[in-house]
Amino acid sequence: MTTMNPPAPATPAVPVTPGTRAARRRQRFARSWTPVDRTLLQVEDLHVEFRTRDGVARAINGVSFELHQDETLAVLGESGSGKSVTAQAVMGILDTPPAFVTGGAVKYCGTDLLTLDENVMQTVRGAEISMIFQDALSSLNPVFTVGWQIAEMFRVHRGMNRRDAEEQAVRLMERVRIPAARERVHNYPHQFSGGMRQRIMIAMAIALDPHVLIADEPTTALDVTVQAQIMELLKELQAESHMGLILITHDLGVVADVADRIAVMYAGRLVEKADVFDLYRDPAHPYTLGLLESIPRLDQQGERLNAIGGLPPNLTRIPAGCPFHPRCRFGTDVCRVGEPPALLDVGRGRRVACHHYDQVLGRGLLEADQRSEEGTR
Ligand code: ADP
Ligand code: MG
Repeated sequence: MTTMNPPAPATPAVPVTPGTRAARRRQRFARSWTPVDRTLLQVEDLHVEFRTRDGVARAINGVSFELHQDETLAVLGESGSGKSVTAQAVMGILDTPPAFVTGGAVKYCGTDLLTLDENVMQTVRGAEISMIFQDALSSLNPVFTVGWQIAEMFRVHRGMNRRDAEEQAVRLMERVRIPAARERVHNYPHQFSGGMRQRIMIAMAIALDPHVLIADEPTTALDVTVQAQIMELLKELQAESHMGLILITHDLGVVADVADRIAVMYAGRLVEKADVFDLYRDPAHPYTLGLLESIPRLDQQGERLNAIGGLPPNLTRIPAGCPFHPRCRFGTDVCRVGEPPALLDVGRGRRVACHHYDQVLGRGLLEADQRSEEGTR
């Protein structure tokens, strides 16, 4: 493995004219960050809980993962599994109360962000680690032109004047492949399609050339063709800038082509981590197997999806043992008691938290064979 960093990405020349007070403040607290051995993020044994009137919801229960330059990590899981809370903890934007980070570390270029002052964190957010939010499409302001809203990033963070900031907005719209950017910079959000609006949100997220981009369900509201185009765009932008990309999704079908590694999340824990190809071809956790079987397949049109029965647990009352056991067809007595199974290394860079993973491995292959046999009959 090489420890050399790739040459610095060609960033557009951004003149820094310290104008606004906010920009001057940011420059005072800004640090320079350098990845060590290409590692950008190391999330270590993260714990987050929500203290509410209905009790304590244990949303994140010991999540660990790493992200490197040029790497795409997909975080996969049903709604309520803790994907967005993990992202918000990394960004340092959880509201306390009700959310409390009760353990662990979020290291960016070796420094634990959880220990940093809010003044410094404000220089990290957007410029170092940026995020496209789950409900991003509705967060554009309808009364301002998109150009004005993109240019705002440069006025506030870089203290640019209006003309320079608008010029940068045009460049960014071109970078996210919006046709006729120079004319469209004066259009309002409603004049763009859903896919084009999502490109505008991506433009705002990458405006300050972050090293880490977290995209939380970036294509959920879009149709299948546009989903694929947005994924393609994120991949292209990553190749240009060497970003680390975290793609949060409940749909493995959407990310299979772009992710390098997948982390599968259930009830605030990672239950499987693997190379995308291994995981897709031969899942080791019963939950992953269930998610794969729920993907609509072109060759099975009209057939009922083999969705996982039951619901994820209420996080104020996570069952003893493996939290997935009430829904698991491989479950035995050992799964119902004690601590949840640990995330163990089972070889080839794959980790899985299941007592019976050896029974699960091979199923994906077997079932794929059966399907193709039925197809040829
Ligand atoms: P998802 O995987 O769908 O993104 P989230 O990370 O948003 O799930 O939420 C995980 C869990 O955290 C929820 O099921 C809920 O129990 C808890 N949670 C999230 N936000 C709040 C909140 N504002 N107040 C109380 N509990 C919350
Ligand atoms: Mg979410």
